[in-house]
This record gives sequence, structure tokens and C-alpha cells, in this order.
Amino acid sequence: MIEFPKRHLVPYDGDFRITDFDADPPKGSGSEAKLEAELKESVARLDELQRRLFADQRHALLAVFQAMDAAGKDSTIRKVFSGVNPAGFRVHAFGRPSELELRHDFLQRVATRLPERGKIGVFNRCHYEEVLVVRVHPGALAAQNLPDAGGKGFWEGRFESIREFEQHLARNGTVVVKFWLNVSRKEQKKRLLERIEDPEKNWKFRLGDLDDRARWNDYLSAYEDLLRATSRAYAPWYAIPADDKDYMRAAVARVLVETLESIDPRYPAVDATQKRDLQEGKKRLESE
Ligand code: AMP
Ligand code: MG
Repeated sequence: MIEFPKRHLVPYDGDFRITDFDADPPKGSGSEAKLEAELKESVARLDELQRRLFADQRHALLAVFQAMDAAGKDSTIRKVFSGVNPAGFRVHAFGRPSELELRHDFLQRVATRLPERGKIGVFNRCHYEEVLVVRVHPGALAAQNLPDAGGKGFWEGRFESIREFEQHLARNGTVVVKFWLNVSRKEQKKRLLERIEDPEKNWKFRLGDLDDRARWNDYLSAYEDLLRATSRAYAPWYAIPADDKDYMRAAVARVLVETLESIDPRYPAVDATQKRDLQEGKKRLESE
């Protein structure tokens, strides 16, 4: 088996460059068939682990996905979670904030959509947009009408709010795991062109995505800052190579499996009273 998690974990000491992370999978990571088999195995493990998470009721799992357009967030979420029970699972996609959301602090809207203990929640984009798109497009920050917007220490203040928020979640039983799907500029071009050429993908194309593409280096530098500031033991980031979709999906699924295994959710132990009830129930049913 490939050592996905350790290999892609973003160091907690902030001592790296964004260019240290590859959009291509590591060499020798296996054929398409092998990666698909690995994904299948992880999907089955996630099903079993989710059952235990639900029965155990001590932890929630929050998986966060961030990426440039066309990196494959939606399809990765669809494939990786294809085996989980929808009753214990919810995905929320965060788009442009509403007028009302803009008048709240930036964590308010994410706080209302967190998974409760026993459940798995997925954020397709999230509060990290607040240090990405909002940082790259001054108009998005201006719309928030904040005191000292963009002033000295402003972005460091946001990172601090995010760290404290995630640490608070961890202390309260929510296991936070974050994925940056790292697609190259070249591969993005190919996938955006596919959206234009394939009629079934036309609906996904937004001309505005090209404006973000034009700001590629600004986005990368915003990613570098946020990864340095917010990859921590209580809420690690994983930088997943996204140019090969099979590798990306297998890697994400494996990180999730290992994350859930590390909290080792268990079916609650049966105590003496319950044991007696089980015996009593058996007796009654069998004597019907
Ligand atoms: P999509 O995920 O393709 O549906 O696009 C959602 C859009 O909403 C993206 O262009 C995001 O950058 C944008 N978006 C998400 N969160 C925020 C935010 N907090 N402020 C401004 N724009 C956002
Ligand atoms: Mg966009």
C-alpha cells in the first residue's frame, strides 16, 4: 500500500514553500486499476468506520475541501463518500455570501453547518475562502464593511481566528481534516477547455473562472500563507496532487480512513443492565 497520509501532510511548523508540493502524483504510485482498487477498499472501510462513529457518538468528522476551479472537488467528494450512509452525512457547498451573511462575522455561516457528534460533514469550500478569494479580490473584502479591513495584521488576525475556531472544534469532539487539491495551471486549462467542448459539461463553465486563473500566482501565495498558518495537529492540511484524478481520490479516501481509525470509534459497551435486558428479550421472543 502507498503511504498516502504521511507523504501529503502539510508540516505544522510552517517551514515550506508552496512549490514543494507537487500536482503530479509521486512516481511509482501505481496503475489506474491499482488506485481504483485502493479507493474501493477505502470506501468500504469508511462505511464501517461511519457506523462506529455514529454508534459511538463521541466525535464528529469535518472534512474541508479547497482548490482552484476544476481541480475535482465535487467528483472527489462524490466518489470518496459513495459508500457512506446518507443519514449520517451532509455536504455543504459555500458560494458567495448573502447580504445577511456579509453582515455577520466570517465564521458565522460555517458554524451553523457543522456536523453534530456521530456524523460526517463535508465543506466544499468554506471559511478558507475568506483568506483566498477575499484576499485576492479587494472588492470582496470591501463588501464586508469591516473596521480596519486589510490593515496591518489583518490577515494574521484572520488566521488566528481560524486556528482558535478549529482548536475549539477539536476540543469539543470534532475531528477536522483539510484537503487542498493541488491542480497545476496546465491541467486546469485542459479541464476548463473540456468544460467548453463537452456539451454535458458546459453548465459548469463560468467566464469569471478565467479571472481567477489570471490571478494564479496571487492565489498560490495566499495558499502558501494559509497552509503555513493553519496546518496544525488539531486540524491538519493535506496537499493532494490533483492532476491525476485516480490518485487524488485514492489518497483522499485513505487519509479519511486513517483519520477515523486514529480516533477509533467503538460500538458502546453493553453494561450489566443491558445484558439482562438482552437475555430477558431473547427469552420473551423465543417463548412467543
Ligand atoms: P463554485 O464552488 O464553483 O460554485 O463557486 C462558488 C464561488 O463562490 C467561488 O467563486 C468562490 O470563490 C465564491 N465564494 C465562496 N466563499 C466566498 C466568500 N466567503 N467570499 C466571496 N466569495 C466566495
Ligand atoms: Mg471561481
